Amino acid sequence: MPNFTSSIKRNIKQITEQINQACQHNNRQNQVTLLAVSKTKPASAVEQAYYAEQSDFGENYVQEAIEKITQLSHLPDICWHFIGPIQANKTKQIAQHFTWVHTVDRAKIAHRLNDHLSESNQQHNCQDTALNICLQVNISEEPSKSGIMATEVFSLAEVVDNCDKLTLRGLMAIPEKNAGVASYQKMRHLFKKLQAQYPTVDTLSIGMSNDIEVAIAHGSTMVRIGTAIFGKRK
Ligand SMILES: *Cc1c(COP(=O)(O)O)cnc(C)c1O
Repeated sequence: MPNFTSSIKRNIKQITEQINQACQHNNRQNQVTLLAVSKTKPASAVEQAYYAEQSDFGENYVQEAIEKITQLSHLPDICWHFIGPIQANKTKQIAQHFTWVHTVDRAKIAHRLNDHLSESNQQHNCQDTALNICLQVNISEEPSKSGIMATEVFSLAEVVDNCDKLTLRGLMAIPEKNAGVASYQKMRHLFKKLQAQYPTVDTLSIGMSNDIEVAIAHGSTMVRIGTAIFGKRK
């Protein structure tokens, strides 16, 4: 059994308080989900977080993730989110092992995920039958980052919405560090527009260890936190 004084547990409590305060500060009633980003961290760290009542975990690398998912398959209701760049030849494994994918950035990937699920009738964790999808937006228009341009959101949303094994849940972004609030404002605007068009859209996946407050101030419904929970990565 995990050590109940673990720093992971303390960190989760502290981040949860930070999230609650940011919600209050911005007069937001709605819950913000904490996604614990466990990339490069061992299964034992994920397990400690799980016993601190953390149920959602984000991973970036397919092979590494599957090892942890397999090791931790005995934990009920643990929910895995894929948040890394997607190679087309990894879509089958992603469809098989994850409940959420935050980084869909082209129609081909959506179609492949959908086709794999149609073939296999895979059971997912979290009791969902469809795979939950967010579109990654390159909101600060950085050449080095993946994601679609804001102008491409609605055409890709339509593709995903037309896939019967996928549920369009929303948008994801990693705003540039020094970009100021403009990127956050643009994301909020896009998210509201998408929500007005698709009733399944309820997720704005934005905010990491260093920008929780500004993200929540701009409507984030899911923050993806690695370092502040699990410590620095090597
Ligand atoms: C690594 C990562 C995070 C977590 O970043 P921290 O700064 O460690 O909180 C969040 N989102 C994505 C997409 C990541 O790759």
